[in-house]
Amino acid sequence: MSKALDLYDRQEFLQCLQCAVCTGSCPTARVVPGFSPRDIILRYILFGEQDEVLESPDLWTCTTCHACQERCPHEICISGLLTHIMNLAARRGNLPSALKSGVRLMAETGWSVPAPPRADRVREELGLKPLKRPDTEEIRAIFREAGLDEILDLP
Ligand code: SF4
Ligand code: SF4
Repeated sequence: MSKALDLYDRQEFLQCLQCAVCTGSCPTARVVPGFSPRDIILRYILFGEQDEVLESPDLWTCTTCHACQERCPHEICISGLLTHIMNLAARRGNLPSALKSGVRLMAETGWSVPAPPRADRVREELGLKPLKRPDTEEIRAIFREAGLDEILDLP
């Protein structure tokens, strides 16, 4: 099992009071109807609905901002659980297409939003140095280590 899949301790979640402070603190829950970290804990850990949670597209709306666990009265590592679930979901192929494209772009260019050719022209006109291109070999090595090559079938 990878380190990323081992970021949470199941026992810790059995202390959850279902008080919903996490959901009340979650910026995503404010804008994505139905998204609730409290509900995910309940379904994934306590009700055993792992398959349903892993297939949910809403899962990917978590920004791993950690607000939930910072305010949890038991300091339960909720974003660790969400990271774990997202890793498992990605291994099953449940990865949003926008995220796949972003990772591919990073593998190819080193940037999630590549600078257009015009950027260098404008920089030159302004007397600035050209933008330094990231070392994509290093980025690919990180992706390989994280298992992304396998998940996304990167060239
Ligand atoms: S804030 Fe903590 S204890 Fe309360 S529901 Fe969320 S995880 Fe459970
Ligand atoms: S880590 Fe995810 S679930 Fe927790 S508050 Fe941030 S967006 Fe919400």
